[in-house]
Amino acid sequence: MEDNWEKQLACAPQCLRCNRAFAPQDRRPLSVYDHQPICGQCKQEEEKRPDYEDASKAMIAACLKATNKPYGDPAGYCFHHFCPFKCND
Ligand SMILES: [Zn+2]
Repeated sequence: MEDNWEKQLACAPQCLRCNRAFAPQDRRPLSVYDHQPICGQCKQEEEKRPDYEDASKAMIAACLKATNKPYGDPAGYCFHHFCPFKCND
């Protein structure tokens, strides 16, 4: 996950959930369930799940442990579950 994750996720060609193709400027939030880049619509669906709150907390805890970076640090991937990537290339 640490190596090259940023580039891969930031420029994912399509939503890993619904397979919708991303435009380069589309935002790509990560799923708190499987850390895959998904589209805004799928993110909204995910947020409606009854266990979303718990899954978010579990993800954040696991993420902080894995990266040793504070949650708000954009260099750690934790951050991007809520602050979506943009592909800038
Ligand atoms: Zn989607």
